[in-house]
Amino acid sequence: MINNLLEAKAEKLLDDAGCYTIPVDVICLTDFLKIRVEAMPLQSDISGFLGITNDNIVIGYNKTQSHERRRFTIAHEIAHYRLHAGKDMPLFIDRDKKPEQRIMFRDATSSTGEFIKEREANAFAAALLMPKSLVEQEFKSSSKGYIQDTIKELSAKFQVSVQAMSIRLANLDIIDANAY
Ligand SMILES: [Zn+2]
Repeated sequence: MINNLLEAKAEKLLDDAGCYTIPVDVICLTDFLKIRVEAMPLQSDISGFLGITNDNIVIGYNKTQSHERRRFTIAHEIAHYRLHAGKDMPLFIDRDKKPEQRIMFRDATSSTGEFIKEREANAFAAALLMPKSLVEQEFKSSSKGYIQDTIKELSAKFQVSVQAMSIRLANLDIIDANAY
């Protein structure tokens, strides 16, 4: 299932910025939004952050993470900027959570605003990096074989992780969530 409002907002940003390409160039988006992007030696459990001051918008990402992870982090921080940031919310710090912590985190905060914001940022990031129309188009023209191979092929094309592409395809109802 997808959130149509978030999908529409992501598509509008890609259109306005002229960044509707495969793979989507996240720097094309941050340039359009006048966001400075910096690789940083962040603490190992921090994937990235968004910081807003009077005259600067900065996204920092952890330079030790993979290319695909960095792209997702930047897209996730763009989402915070477009959806959540404001004068009263000038800083977002995103931490990696180990699976067991993630479960605790979900239990403890699933009804809080923070959890909703994180979920929205992930959904918006997925919509930015894997635009619905482009994913559908590429899925149709992909070489037909084992579904796992198709997912790998698409994740390489869109420069996202295999996991991110699997989730996106399931959320778009292109594949069965049990198929991967
Ligand atoms: Zn976040």
